[in-house]
Amino acid sequence: IVYLDSAAGTQMSLPVFQEIKPFLMDIYANPSSSYRFADIPKQAIKLARERCAKAINAEPEQIIFTSGATESNNLVMGQGVIISSKYEHPSMKIGFTADDIQLEINKLQRMGTNSIIVSHQFVNNETGTIFDVKRYADIAHASGCFFHTDATQAFSHIPIDVKDIDCDFLSLSGHKFHAPRGIGLLYVKAPDKFNSPIIGGGQERGLRSGTENTAGIVGLGKAMELYNYSPLANERMKTLKYTLLEHLKAKCPCEYRINAIDGLPTVDNIVNISFKRINGEALALLLDYQGYCVSQGSACHSASAEPSAVLKAINVPEDYIRGTIRVSFSKDNSVDEVISFVDCLAEKIKALQN
Ligand code: PLP
Repeated sequence: IVYLDSAAGTQMSLPVFQEIKPFLMDIYANPSSSYRFADIPKQAIKLARERCAKAINAEPEQIIFTSGATESNNLVMGQGVIISSKYEHPSMKIGFTADDIQLEINKLQRMGTNSIIVSHQFVNNETGTIFDVKRYADIAHASGCFFHTDATQAFSHIPIDVKDIDCDFLSLSGHKFHAPRGIGLLYVKAPDKFNSPIIGGGQERGLRSGTENTAGIVGLGKAMELYNYSPLANERMKTLKYTLLEHLKAKCPCEYRINAIDGLPTVDNIVNISFKRINGEALALLLDYQGYCVSQGSACHSASAEPSAVLKAINVPEDYIRGTIRVSFSKDNSVDEVISFVDCLAEKIKALQN
């Protein structure tokens, strides 16, 4: 298998697995229990919370562990009326979608709406486009609104500093950076003002009840410590992206375009390519038969036959839009894999042209 779909999910790494292994079997006490055996998971969760906080320049008490970004995003929706961008992941598509956030804020405030939360993703999951979230936070705060960012595709690929962004909420999902699936976090700037919709045993200081996923939390902490953005690690992504683009230029038998939103910069681990008059679904299938895993457009939309709303919004031409694939890398990919992928891609495109 050549796995080039890390934006959909990554493999848990060995150091992360080793860190969580004891908590999968041997250390099974409920961290809320009072005997000493429960101190082990309790301390492990404390350490994980510190590691997660440090990785995004937050305070440990500002971290709420969740089952992933979908839950984190949904928790934010419970805090007020959402104004979001048209590029959001389906888990953040609620409330008002705005082309012009300021106009939408003004409109809602004229109607007397309080607790408005502006939400803008940090990195787009389909194209890898990086947004200037600091600017959106400023717009929100200047009008007395809150600001949330879905940073699911950002962590590990660009530095995240919640104090610098000045966000009120931030969502992350561990499986995008070599932690297990089913664990994530929500950063909350003012946890004492957070309204939790989850009623129960009062875990996570009452902000997210339910017995802690100790192994997941430990894995998330380790992964955030190990795989936070570093220029050195990112050099590898740059090399893979450069190899893909250069090899494509030399080998691709048809016209193609690389998609990004509004000409903004993109992360180095995601490349969204549209091939002119090629059936992207058939292409992804042919690649799959050869053992190459890429996403057809975006994994989040693969259940739907409709072309991606994001690509439509950025006016990718009709004869390109259905020929879209998303290639995404992780630290585990090699240059050789990328070269063999492009060779196979070129061959399959030729086959589809005939
Ligand atoms: N937000 C973005 C930008 C994503 O890319 C994803 C997953 O692809 C999610 C949220 C949802 O993450 P999860 O399925 O881990 O809850």
